[in-house]
Order: sequence, then structure tokens, then C-alpha cells
Amino acid sequence: MTDQPTVRIAHLYAHFLNIYGDRGNILSLSQRARWRGIGVQVEAIGVGQEIDPERFDLYFIGGGQDKQQLVIAEDLLRHARSLQAAVDCGAVVLAICGGYQLLGHYYKPHNGPELKGVSLIDAYTVAGDRRMIGNVIVRRPDGSTLVGFENHSGRTYLGPALEPLGRVVSGNGNNGEDGLEGAVSGTIYGTYLHGSLLPKNPHLTDELLAKALRRRHPDIVLAPLDDSLELAAHKRALSLPA
Ligand code: GLN
Repeated sequence: MTDQPTVRIAHLYAHFLNIYGDRGNILSLSQRARWRGIGVQVEAIGVGQEIDPERFDLYFIGGGQDKQQLVIAEDLLRHARSLQAAVDCGAVVLAICGGYQLLGHYYKPHNGPELKGVSLIDAYTVAGDRRMIGNVIVRRPDGSTLVGFENHSGRTYLGPALEPLGRVVSGNGNNGEDGLEGAVSGTIYGTYLHGSLLPKNPHLTDELLAKALRRRHPDIVLAPLDDSLELAAHKRALSLPA
């Protein structure tokens, strides 16, 4: 019986919601774990499959166009209670753009019916009349920055008690109106930042990885890595025009 710590990642709808290379977030989480000698198990969870809320430490759901969201929204709704149970047991959720929109109460696209979300976060999204496309810089409450790329028409509005991931320094963020980007509720993270997000934001990758690992390895501490390459990419992205 190995005592090597492992992280178990569920990649929800890997083949449907993977726009703008969002699977790069899985690669970043996995590699930063392996570089530390931590075992990694990634399982793709597709439409029609079941989720064991005890099994996974981190759930990832990427972004997609309205038509992909339409395909998976009903199936995701089946998992609402399992995902809430998993979060209640300390699992981490990272949702990007279209996946983020479905974490809230609903997403109303331009055309077609309102898509009911899983209500893991107190937020809702309505498609606006213009697409918000471009580079984004976000400043988090601890003063750190996040960089990424956005491409969405959805405007997401947070409930009064829901914290944003950070404030927009450049770009649009949740809705292009209130200066907020993303949402954080305990171990649940939602954001519009594609890129993919994590490779250029190693501090956020490690924040998510540490929280996910502590679910089954409470005393684990992540050894520092040489982030010179990642931080050089982060610094370059800080200089890009919105
Ligand atoms: N279809 C959604 C929108 O346009 C999400 C897009 C995405 O995931 N990039 O807002």
C-alpha cells in the first residue's frame, strides 16, 4: 500500500466543454502535482455517467459555445446534489466560462430556452448584446494578479454574499459593468478566464491543488517549484493590450 499522496480529478464533459484549450488547466494541475511526487488520477466524466461524491478531490468543467452548453446542461443538473455533497466534503470545483455560468442558478442565452444551473453559487447569467473578447487582468484581494483571455456574451451577476475571484484591472470580467471577475465560494472557483487559465497563474494552480489535496491529506504542504518560466509568461501577459 503506497503512502504516496494522490489527487483525483474529475474532468466533466471533457469532449464538449474544452473551448480555447481549457484542458490545459488539467495538464497544469497534474504536472504541478507530479513535479512534487504526488500521484494524479484524472477521469473524464461524460454525459450519462454517474459521479461518486466521495471519489474526487477536484472537479473541472471548461467552457463552450451555447450549443455545447445546451447539450450538457440537463445532464449536469442530474449531478447538482452529488456536486454539493462533494463540495461539502471539501472537494474543489474549478469552472471556466460556460461551465462557470452553469454553476449558478441559470444561463439565459440569446436564442433558445433558459438553461437551469446547479446553483452551487448564488449567481445568474444573461447573454448580452455584444461579445466580450480580449485579454483580461484581474487583481485578487491579496494583491496578486491573474491573467487570461475572455470570449463570452454572457453577463454574470453575483449575489450579495458571493465573493468575486478579483477585480478587473483590464478587460470586462463577469459583465463589463461592475468591475468584478469570477466568483469564489469556499472551494468553488468560477471564472471567465480562458488561456488556459492555470499555466500562467501558478499561484492559483497551487491554491487549488493544496485545497484539493487537503481533503484526504490534511497535513500536506506543497514544496515550492521553480516558477520562473510560468511567471515570465504571466509578466508578458500583463503587458498585453485588453
Ligand atoms: N456560450 C457562453 C457565452 O457566450 C460561454 C462561452 C464560453 O464558454 N467561452 O457567454
